[in-house]
Amino acid sequence: MSSTVRTVEELIKEANEAFQKKFGVKPRLAAKAPGRVNLIGEHTDYNDGYVFPMALPMVTVVVGNPTESGVCRVETLAAGVDPSYTEFPLNDLKPGSPKWCNYVKGVAAQMPGKIPSFDAVIASSVPLGGGVSSSASVEVAVYTFLEQIMAEPDIETTVTDKILRCQKAEHEYAGMPCGIMDQFISVLGKEGHALLIDCRAKEGRLVPMLDSSVVVLVTNSNVKHELTGSEYPTRRKQCQTAAKILGVPSLRDATELELERKKEELDEETYRRVRHVVSEIRRTVDAAAALENGDYNTFGNMMVASHNSLRDDYEVSCKELDQLVEYAMEMKPHGVYGSRMTGGGFGGCTVTLLKATAVDKVIDHIHKKYSSLGNKATFFVCPPSDGASKISL
Ligand code: ADP
Ligand code: MG
Repeated sequence: MSSTVRTVEELIKEANEAFQKKFGVKPRLAAKAPGRVNLIGEHTDYNDGYVFPMALPMVTVVVGNPTESGVCRVETLAAGVDPSYTEFPLNDLKPGSPKWCNYVKGVAAQMPGKIPSFDAVIASSVPLGGGVSSSASVEVAVYTFLEQIMAEPDIETTVTDKILRCQKAEHEYAGMPCGIMDQFISVLGKEGHALLIDCRAKEGRLVPMLDSSVVVLVTNSNVKHELTGSEYPTRRKQCQTAAKILGVPSLRDATELELERKKEELDEETYRRVRHVVSEIRRTVDAAAALENGDYNTFGNMMVASHNSLRDDYEVSCKELDQLVEYAMEMKPHGVYGSRMTGGGFGGCTVTLLKATAVDKVIDHIHKKYSSLGNKATFFVCPPSDGASKISL
């Protein structure tokens, strides 16, 4: 019932063939970077808090060659992206149209060393706009590709710099003031592990996860409510304002006790926003400890508490995500530990922790109920996977 993820080999083959068709030569260099699913810790990264993602088996692959023309030529094989091919001069990197190429240009502009122009093809198994961070996977894959053709690299550049430069590309070229999580896990993910990231210290701790009896199920609602598009920056702003009122550098420094004491100073909506962030940061640390101890029941309960908080206090869920979580939790007696929306919200995916033996039954149940409402979900059983790397062709 669950969809099969295209393998890296299949993506490379697809990208290679497209490259040869487009540019008439074989690509010599390649790199890959994964999407991610956040197990818990939503909307905490830009509040200096903790997040707990793992890298997915879905990846973005970039193949290509350096060129001497001074013009970069890039094609994406992603479905529904139009136009799928574009060119831009290396000496004039600024955001423009098509939008998808801003992620490529933004990274090219951020490289810590001189790069030549290049031809590249992008192939990906990460669903676009599905809340599992196709954008960071593109940024990190492009960066990892360009690292190989960069001359005179700044030797001081660290892995953290790479993460921050990719984040900056998204801020400045895609206009998305995202936190550090997506790029962090796409660079540093490790097979068999989730990563507890302290977004203030910019440090991650790998946590071995899952004995073979437990799996992570990612369910794509296949809906995306655009709303006004300003929900994310608005939430970010509310958090900054609230931190000022509470007299803390960021909401990471606020406690639940302090929040209750100063409740009157915040309007009702802002109070609920803060209550989500502060409780979610605590839950994330506790949940990572529970997972490390193999205490899946506690972890699952925290996933549900996280979802409810995102739905009621932070108000970033939507009907479809609520339904998917509800249907998953109806299967608790059959081996579901917990389920929640994951990613920014208003559509995209849910993440569910469940017994491996229950997978087929649970997918069947969710599928039947969700499709009876006229929607179609897609299901992926996802082992925690590796972060970015170059690929030898
Ligand atoms: P998410 O990161 O959750 O998937 P975003 O809205 O942050 O959603 O990023 C999605 C955007 O990233 C797409 O609309 C597109 O512009 C760009 N993108 C992602 N993957 C690809 C790809 N394979 N090829 C071209 N552009 C891509
Ligand atoms: Mg994104």
